[in-house]
Order: sequence, then structure tokens, then C-alpha cells
Amino acid sequence: MVKLIKSTQELISARAQEKGSTGFVPTMGNLHAGHISLLERALADCDVVYFSIFVNPKQFGPTEDFKEYPRTLERDLELIKSCLNKYSGKSVIVFAPENPEEVFPSSDDQTIVVTNFNNIIEGKLRPNHFDGVATVVFKLFQIVKPHKAYFGLKDYQQYLVIRQMVKELAMPIEIIGMPIIRESNGLALSSRNQYLSENQKEEALILSRTLTKIAQTIAGKKANLLKAKKEIESILSDTRWNYLEIRDAYSLSEDLTNSSRITLVAVFQLGSTRLLDNMQQEIE
Ligand code: AMP
Repeated sequence: MVKLIKSTQELISARAQEKGSTGFVPTMGNLHAGHISLLERALADCDVVYFSIFVNPKQFGPTEDFKEYPRTLERDLELIKSCLNKYSGKSVIVFAPENPEEVFPSSDDQTIVVTNFNNIIEGKLRPNHFDGVATVVFKLFQIVKPHKAYFGLKDYQQYLVIRQMVKELAMPIEIIGMPIIRESNGLALSSRNQYLSENQKEEALILSRTLTKIAQTIAGKKANLLKAKKEIESILSDTRWNYLEIRDAYSLSEDLTNSSRITLVAVFQLGSTRLLDNMQQEIE
């Protein structure tokens, strides 16, 4: 059964009746196979899955696409229903507040700032973005009180922010990071891909192809990092790259001397659409 709840109070009451294990998948809606992969894993793991669809104004900058962000609730509910059909005995509660005040009723509400990660890489280009993400996820965690919560590694820095928040604030929630779902040509699925023209969709392939190529250069060896960094230097002469970097996969530090795992992180911009991607690998 899929139940739609729009009010925070109603959700809190429904949650209080729940006895079994509960999973939580926070999203901004306009669902695609990436979101559905999180839902499937949550349904496999838990008795009840809470699935939020909320376009959170706090994580958008003043010049970003908050107003235009695609809102497709009816279609999203259909996708959730057809996914749930494969999991008999399970249920999904969709939390889709109709306005931001439902989640943030007062204007002086608290902000969660995860200082280790909030103003580097993506956070440097999008001031306050990760504070907005951490704050809404914290609030939703308080409302839903899940045992487990599912996040896509597509937003790798976001995943680290949430893990750090849960650790620092001793929240009893297991954070599960899920692999990036891609088109067969390598393009990572994203709600923002629909902003791209057909030509831009072709151009966008440069992103995953470049990451794959650099990952191949590194090939699990620290000794290859210098060569990979040189390769990156010449790639960055194309100014459509907002950034393309190799960082420690756990701390996001630039210093890789003691790293056992690295992440490539990148944003490639086509017109006003910023496309995010990343890849991790062990190194020795
Ligand atoms: P969003 O609706 O963009 O806020 O995303 C909601 C959740 O879905 C986040 O945890 C994202 O990381 C995850 N997600 C988005 N795109 C993908 C993808 N292509 N593969 C896996 N997870 C994704």
C-alpha cells in the first residue's frame, strides 16, 4: 500500500503507530531509476519505507532553479506504486509537504552546519547549500525517525555531509550509500538532465568518459597520481569544467599522502545546467 501524507503532524502520528523496521528515502521528486534504486533497496531491507518528496528551498542559492525545479507528484506516485508491486507485504508512506512552511514553520529555525565538508568543493561554489541539505535532512530525520536512510553516491559530498552529521549528533540511524545509476552511455541519471537539449546530452558524455579515463590512469596506484593530476590540468583548460579534482574519499582532503581510497569529483556545466559526477577507487 502507498499512503500519501502532506502534513507533518499526520506523519508523526502515523510513525508513532509503526512497530517494524523503517527505512527512509529523502528526495526532491521528479523520480527516475536512480531514486527508484534507493526505494528498492529500502523495501528489501525494511518493513515500511518513508519516502519524502520535498523541494527544499534552503538548499537552493538565490540564482538557482528552485522555482523551475520539476514537480511531478502524480507521476512520481505511479512510479512508487509500480515499484511496490514487487514487494508484497511492504508499504510506502510518501511524505509530500505542499509548501516549505509545513517542514519549516518558523523563520528563525535552527541551521545544521557540518563544518568539515560544508564549504569545500561543491560547497565553495554553492554557499549555504550543504547547510540547507543538512538542516532539511536533520528535520526529516526528527519527523520520520527511521532506522536506516538511503542516499545516492551520485551526490557524494552530500552523502559525506549526512554521515558526518549523524556521527557528530549521535543520531541512531544507519546511513546507506547507493551506487550511481547511469544511462547505458554512462551519463549519471539526474532530474536536471531534462534541462539539456539533444546536443547537450551528447556533449554531457564527456563527464563520465573523462572520469573513467582518469580512473584508468590512476589504476589503483599512488605512483600514478601525478600523471593523473597533469592530465586533469590540461582537461581544465576547457572552462565548462566547474571543477575536476582527486580527493581523499573519506575526508575530501587534497592531501593524498596517506589515502587508501580516493574519489574523483567533478562538475561539468552545459549552459546553465551543472552536471555532477564522481568515482571512487582504492589506491596503494
Ligand atoms: P534528489 O531528488 O536529486 O535530491 O535525489 C534524492 C536522492 O537520490 C539523493 O540521495 C541522490 O543522491 C539520489 N540520486 C539521484 N540521482 C541518482 C542516481 N543517478 N543514482 C543513484 N542515486 C541517485
